[in-house]
Amino acid sequence: MLVMKFGGTSVQDSDALQRVLSIVASHAPHHNGIIVVLSATSKTTDALLHIARTAAHASEEEMQPLLLAVRDRHVQIATSLIANVAQQAIAIQRVHQLCDELTEYCQGIAVLGECTAQSLDMVASFGERLSTSIFEGACKAAGLTSTWFDVRSVMRTNESFTQANVDHAIVRIQCKATLLPLLTSSSIVVTQGFLGATADGRTTTLGRGGSDYTAAILGAACGAEEIQIWTDVSGVYTTDPRLVSEARPIPHMSFREVRELAIYGAKVLHPDTIAPAIDANIPVRVLNTFRENDPGTTITASQPHDADLHAVSLIRSCVAIHTSRPTSFLHEIESHVLLRASTAEATVFILPARTDAERVAIDVAVAGADVHRTNVALIAVCGPHAQAPTSVETLAAVARHAQMIVSGASDVTTFVVVADEHALDTVRAIHGILYSASSE
Ligand code: ASP
Ligand code: MG
Repeated sequence: MLVMKFGGTSVQDSDALQRVLSIVASHAPHHNGIIVVLSATSKTTDALLHIARTAAHASEEEMQPLLLAVRDRHVQIATSLIANVAQQAIAIQRVHQLCDELTEYCQGIAVLGECTAQSLDMVASFGERLSTSIFEGACKAAGLTSTWFDVRSVMRTNESFTQANVDHAIVRIQCKATLLPLLTSSSIVVTQGFLGATADGRTTTLGRGGSDYTAAILGAACGAEEIQIWTDVSGVYTTDPRLVSEARPIPHMSFREVRELAIYGAKVLHPDTIAPAIDANIPVRVLNTFRENDPGTTITASQPHDADLHAVSLIRSCVAIHTSRPTSFLHEIESHVLLRASTAEATVFILPARTDAERVAIDVAVAGADVHRTNVALIAVCGPHAQAPTSVETLAAVARHAQMIVSGASDVTTFVVVADEHALDTVRAIHGILYSASSE
């Protein structure tokens, strides 16, 4: 059984949804059931949250165009996506039903003159309910065996509206009882990312961007063979493609590497969101909806050893603080320290200094202390053998301007510290050796 999650841009319009449909259809015969988890169409969650907040103080005339825009967009998507007349009519009717319900709910907010966190979640939920309703209709029209499933019936959370915590034990029990039985061979269950519900049935959400998390939780609860996160990039890249044009997706990497890259500047998927899958030893694949034949990136709990180094990330605008007596100021900035390295005589701290607030915090903390400070960039090099002597030697050879080369606390990372003006050249030089560094 497979979980396939498609994000907002993957379902943004009828063309994108048509691609999703063909991707899902091509996987259906090869797996014992598929759970399709969808986000709202792109920007719809933002629009709905704006609608909910506006409803508290705006007139009906002001609300009307906002609500109409959501309705029209989804009617239009259903119309152009679903050619089959009967299925199209059902889908459009469903869109109208949901939008009527949304309108009524907003009138309720207007009467109260207040938009609570609970109302925000309820209004936001229409985004995923709309996208999944349309897509499920398209599955039926394409002749697939599909079921629309309300994820709120299994995704039990607490009452922390807009950031609800999931009760994994209850989710597991409810999935076994109601979701798993729907997954027979070649069946497709279409459900919502991001949404949950309290024990008494009130709608919650798992936090913005929460659909990846939904996919991981459902995959773990149902024992999926794999969880696929379909997005608009072809995986986790060797470095930021905007910095190095030769950057390319890493075929296979460990969860620990993803976590390190996320901490040290790379814009990869949020590691916490896939943790339930990794804990259950289920591989997570990141794939591109718009380039479906690209192999993507497979993330596993176990560490692949296919290369010495996998990726290089960069945090610019850092400050290095050199001191022989760190104790006098450390406690004030400790939580911001990205890297700490000590020799017998001195300690160096690397701290981010990108914002005024970060710079002021450093100034205040070290005021009067005996320190020397320089502007640096922090480069993190991740890989199965990032700390092997051969890797460190290779890094030292290409990072000509390195001020320090330091082993990270996690054994998949080595750090290179350079003056900020050498940041880009150094990242490019290191990227050049990523795949030529031989594995053991
Ligand atoms: N639709 C939600 C959001 O925009 C959840 C998601 O897309 O993951 O935050
Ligand atoms: Mg998203």
